[in-house]
Amino acid sequence: MQDSDVIVIGSGIGGLCAAGLLARYGKRVIACESHIIPGGAAHSFRRRGFEFDSGPSFYCGLTGAESLNPVKQVLDILGESIQVIPYDPLGHYHFPESTFAVYSQIERYRQEVQKITPQGAKELQRYEARLLGLYEAMKGIPTLALRADWQIIPILLRHYLPSLAKMLPHLPIVQASVGSVMDATVQDPWVRRLIDLECFLLSGLKAHGTIAPEVAFMLGERSRAGVEYPVGGSGAIVKALVRGLERWGGKLRTGCHIEQILLSSGKVTGVQTSQGEIISAPIVISNASIWDTYNHLLRPEDLPASYRQAALDTPAVASFMHLHLGIRSPGLENLTGHHVVVHDSQQDITTPGNTCMISIPSVWDAKLAPAGHHVIHAYTLEPYAGWERNEGYEQKKREKAQTLYRALERIIPDIRDACGGRSHRVVVELIGTPLTHAHYLRRYQGTYGPAIAAGQGTFPGYNTPIPGLYRVGDSTMPGIGVPAAAASGILCANTLKT
Ligand SMILES: Cc1cc2nc3c(=O)[nH]c(=O)nc-3n(C[C@H](O)[C@H](O)[C@H](O)COP(=O)(O)OP(=O)(O)OC[C@H]3O[C@@H](n4cnc5c(N)ncnc54)[C@H](O)[C@@H]3O)c2cc1C
Repeated sequence: MQDSDVIVIGSGIGGLCAAGLLARYGKRVIACESHIIPGGAAHSFRRRGFEFDSGPSFYCGLTGAESLNPVKQVLDILGESIQVIPYDPLGHYHFPESTFAVYSQIERYRQEVQKITPQGAKELQRYEARLLGLYEAMKGIPTLALRADWQIIPILLRHYLPSLAKMLPHLPIVQASVGSVMDATVQDPWVRRLIDLECFLLSGLKAHGTIAPEVAFMLGERSRAGVEYPVGGSGAIVKALVRGLERWGGKLRTGCHIEQILLSSGKVTGVQTSQGEIISAPIVISNASIWDTYNHLLRPEDLPASYRQAALDTPAVASFMHLHLGIRSPGLENLTGHHVVVHDSQQDITTPGNTCMISIPSVWDAKLAPAGHHVIHAYTLEPYAGWERNEGYEQKKREKAQTLYRALERIIPDIRDACGGRSHRVVVELIGTPLTHAHYLRRYQGTYGPAIAAGQGTFPGYNTPIPGLYRVGDSTMPGIGVPAAAASGILCANTLKT
């Protein structure tokens, strides 16, 4: 008798979706999470009355009967739901020369562009039409219906033939970069920068590195379903997934770090925790990244050498500097929630420190901060290389956070004002570096995810060369982001269902 039918290593969005669905399909499931808080990149944590999102804060389609968001589809099937707060404009992009309000509502978005560049707005419309056509075709096939093996073929042919037919005219751009769509439709430099920026926010790569379906899905969902924030913060999504897992008899063990995946005669037999406990199961699903799974959870001899090397050579997007602040809110009554600040137009938007993302979720859900306060998360890309916990660490950390403070000054000009060494506004300050990110999220070099550029490869699937070992999360198909990580969990669970 095995301890479980399935062990899931990690409780990121991909792991929780796979675990919850497999429990729902009748399997005995144990999810083991290293951290004391579940959720991985999407977890929230509390300090002195402030509820901080550690990563994502931008969501579409978490509610609504016809939502295409895979997270919503999983919550539905688990019998769970969350409450959300819709909002529009979805954010403000602050360029050195001006600030631009971004609306989910597509005509409104274009009207704003038109004020800056009438010709650019016309070109943007052509670009959007091309991508929304692809989105309309993709929309007919819900992620929850998919699996990742050959059995998908009869399912598609039996149930989704009209949707497949709709896809045919769009096949040329399904594997293409959105940069090729942009090249064919948009010449205006201002709009091209806007598209590059939105791609960078989505995939960590600019338009020529980002695949067209990813952008089509983002654009389609945000214009159709609108943008919304979960009541209680990003952690509310994680809590709902955990409730769903437990409702169907699955178990989540937090503070349970898995040291090794155990094999016998080349097949999975279970895992060993860092406390030396052995948990047996014929199936193990790793939600750790591709690098962490193959480098730390298996011995080198467990995998074919060339396969292992190719997997470990997967390029990685950089990590982050994070600034989490709890601030006093008087005088900030008109604050909005999402901001992107580009400091210098002469520098590439991907240059670390140049593009800063800011989210102030207490604007939507006041309960995330004590009365009279706001909670802020600001972050920017930062390479992992060069970071060490040595005597210069604290000073380097403080210096590197200044680009985030400078970005915040575009929105809250007096954020750094102080009197007698005491800040007027800031009551809690937490600065995170790539080392912090790597440590708390157990992610190789604290990376955002694989840097697999369109046309230069595809994200690997859920399968591995080891019988009984599978992978989910943002280093598997379809890629980075909460909806994509959820989709990876669906694909894996549906494939293992029978
Ligand atoms: C700053 C930031 C902002 C983002 N913003 C957005 C956004 O607005 N919208 C959006 O859709 N996406 C956003 N993303 C991306 C999104 O959050 C991630 O792609 C997604 O959450 C990753 O999920 P995952 O399933 O890959 O798991 P991960 O989040 O990587 O979680 C993996 C889990 O496995 C655990 N684990 C690893 N190794 C072990 C082990 N050996 N034993 C036990 N447990 C282990 C880890 O502790 C972790 O909890 C953002 C990401 C970041 C970092």
